[in-house]
Amino acid sequence: MRVPKIAVVGSTNMDMVVNAERIPVPGETILASNFFMNPGGKGANQAVAVARMGGDALFVSKVGNDVFGRQSSQLFNEEGIDTRFMLSDEVLPSGVALITVDQKGENSIVVSQGANNSLLPADFTSEVLNELEQCNMLLMQFEIPMETILFIAKYAASRNIKVVVNPAPVQDIPAELLQYVHIITPNETEAGLLTGTKVRSLASAQQAAKMIMEKGVPIVIITLGAQGALVCENGRMSVVPAAPVTAIDTTAAGDVFNGALVVALSNGMPIPEATKFACRAAALSVTKEGAQSSIPYYNEVIAGFIKQG
Ligand code: AMP
Repeated sequence: MRVPKIAVVGSTNMDMVVNAERIPVPGETILASNFFMNPGGKGANQAVAVARMGGDALFVSKVGNDVFGRQSSQLFNEEGIDTRFMLSDEVLPSGVALITVDQKGENSIVVSQGANNSLLPADFTSEVLNELEQCNMLLMQFEIPMETILFIAKYAASRNIKVVVNPAPVQDIPAELLQYVHIITPNETEAGLLTGTKVRSLASAQQAAKMIMEKGVPIVIITLGAQGALVCENGRMSVVPAAPVTAIDTTAAGDVFNGALVVALSNGMPIPEATKFACRAAALSVTKEGAQSSIPYYNEVIAGFIKQG
């Protein structure tokens, strides 16, 4: 059976992580105990999650003409992702995140968006758009310019491609975008901003989901961290509990959730079952450290399903 292609349009970053005793104060230089680089960026994490869940991912992103950009493209290629439209900016560097993690696990992060900021509507040539039309779903996040997100969402919706938006990191959403979105997947903070409410309990999440639906989005899935996810589909609400695990690092849990969700949906799973699959995949990711290093493979998620039912 031909697997339907899934388009992911979004960011690519290189995370550069140092472990140090503490986070330095202004003007201070301290020595790190360790340094490692980790490919990241919400777009890239979600494209990798799609690929590891067995989806055929087309990834449209922009990197710099530098070592990080080339390394990311090569890695994603090895994951089986279609990287033909990972574009390169001749001027701006690749996006990087400079992360300091202290002994207590607290971190401080500075992100330079670099080439991610120059992924613009003009980059979507007829060649890219033709490829997009081969996809049945489009997944986007908020680490590229909003004008690009709007342009592509509108184009995809006009071609009956289902638009899934993970509105992260948290920022204001133009009302126009919501009319093109089929599924929106905020976490509690993002759902709060979207509705001008505080989402801190199941009741407030249900209220927020209803408000977002009233803005015109047919399916709202609010991720609730260790509580799982709230599904609101055409007014019907259900809660999918999180799989019970011992969490050691929740980095990229939301990205794994979204990648797994779109693969399950494009394989024809109904929304509640697809959300359950996504929760299982995300739970596995929180048992491992790092972003892309923690993204599980389809077989691992299925093994968990069989074990826990
Ligand atoms: P969040 O972005 O924190 O809402 O998390 C996204 C998804 O990851 C949630 O909907 C859960 O399915 C999963 N998840 C996050 N934290 C945990 C946890 N501590 N235990 C199990 N699953 C989790």
